[in-house]
Amino acid sequence: MTTTPEDLRTDQTPLAPGAPRSGTTFLGLPTAPRGVGHLRGDRSFPDAARDALRDGQLRANLGHATTTIRGKRARVVAELPDWAQLRAAGSALKTATMARLDEHLEELERQVTARGGTVHWARDAAEANRIVTELVQATGSDEVVKVKSMATQEIGLNEALEAAGITAHETDLAELIVQLGDDKPSHILVPAIHKNRAEIREIFLRTMPQFQGEGADRDLPDEPRRLAMAARAHLRERFLRARVAISGANFAVAETGTLAVVESEGNGRMCLTLPETLITVMGIEKLVPTWRDLEVFLQLLPRSSTGERMNPYTSTWAGVTPGDGPQDFHLVLLDNGRTAVLADEVGRQALHCIRCSACLNVCPVYERTGGHSYGSVYPGPIGAILSPQLTGVEDNASLPYASSLCGACYDVCPVAIDIPSVLVHLRAEHVEAQEKPTAESVAFRALATAMSHPRLWRLAQRAASLGRLLSRGKPTMPNALPFPASAWTRSRDLPTPPAETFTSQWAREHGGRK
Ligand code: SF4
Repeated sequence: MTTTPEDLRTDQTPLAPGAPRSGTTFLGLPTAPRGVGHLRGDRSFPDAARDALRDGQLRANLGHATTTIRGKRARVVAELPDWAQLRAAGSALKTATMARLDEHLEELERQVTARGGTVHWARDAAEANRIVTELVQATGSDEVVKVKSMATQEIGLNEALEAAGITAHETDLAELIVQLGDDKPSHILVPAIHKNRAEIREIFLRTMPQFQGEGADRDLPDEPRRLAMAARAHLRERFLRARVAISGANFAVAETGTLAVVESEGNGRMCLTLPETLITVMGIEKLVPTWRDLEVFLQLLPRSSTGERMNPYTSTWAGVTPGDGPQDFHLVLLDNGRTAVLADEVGRQALHCIRCSACLNVCPVYERTGGHSYGSVYPGPIGAILSPQLTGVEDNASLPYASSLCGACYDVCPVAIDIPSVLVHLRAEHVEAQEKPTAESVAFRALATAMSHPRLWRLAQRAASLGRLLSRGKPTMPNALPFPASAWTRSRDLPTPPAETFTSQWAREHGGRK
């Protein structure tokens, strides 16, 4: 008997509009499960950020890197007279795709299957890890090479493989640095952005076999070219012996079943072509309906991410080709909370993200606190709206507040995601979910009552004027107000009320006329 999508539903929540499904499985609404993957940190953002702010080296490394990338991006974007139209096209394409995501995913499955690939549907991180682990085990291999992939970071695939006795070798240079340094990525595009070249040299000398043992050359300079050559020698040996590769995908084209990876180093292409088996793990939102749609995104992505007119390597593949490249291809379509995001009318635009990282590079909060403070593999402004939605806002409750709401992220986003609006939406969701009233909610409720009753409001204004007298002519009121207002004044100056309120000024100048 064929299992229907409804049979596989374990929850009774209503289906999201456009929730994807196939003939044999259903990707449903539940959020990403706890205890697996890297969407939740151990600490809240303010606690982690406080430590990061004390690290002068980290701030110097980040400041230098983000300033450089920002400048490059601004220059190449300014070269295109139709950038605004491209951006609008990217946004419209994403909105239209999400509205019919279920149909496009089923079309993708048909096309991949017709070209000799196999499609697997993974409801969450645990299911995706199990599918990939079993696929690798079926090949008899105990190691894999990996193309840089946010989806596999999100689900903690390397740890799942390690638990099954399978070693995963990262091949992207920055991912390799993070892996060898026993560290965590801190940026979507440049995972080792928090390390400088001296620190990278030290990691290579400590961990690469070519620098170990009797007679090894330990005279490695911290020159970028020599560091890249050392990494290349280290990786080449792994490329040549690997029988299985695991990749993510930047895009998947529904009408042709084509997967696409864009990259700068060529290591991804080695993984995508040399091994016998290729397994791609892809979030269900990475889909575009037609081949032609790629044209827009392949212009938006490189300029926004690395500040290049075109990325050096764009690899596309569809199924398998006898005698050429991997002969066994598997595509794992990952939900892990994405249909829950799709169900939220305001928040669903987070799924439009093409992971260019432009919003990270302009964010004043990210530049000072770094990516680790966000706890999730998705740091910066996009992380602040994506992670809480994938996990449920209560599991990442501090992230929607990790922003000054300056709007710089919205201005640079190549697909025009209104990140500030989603942040405010998630803050409201978090406040409404509180069972006990917080000091903030009590204060705002009192403010709302005062503002909706003119007499109360005038009394409050008189009380504020009293505060001005207490400040004795100083530019601001005293910083440290008693609890619960201290939660606000601990990190902000309270401005001194003006000498005259607007209403009294109006009454004086207009004599009470409206
Ligand atoms: S939210 Fe926009 S700017 Fe940020 S990574 Fe995604 S596409 Fe790029």
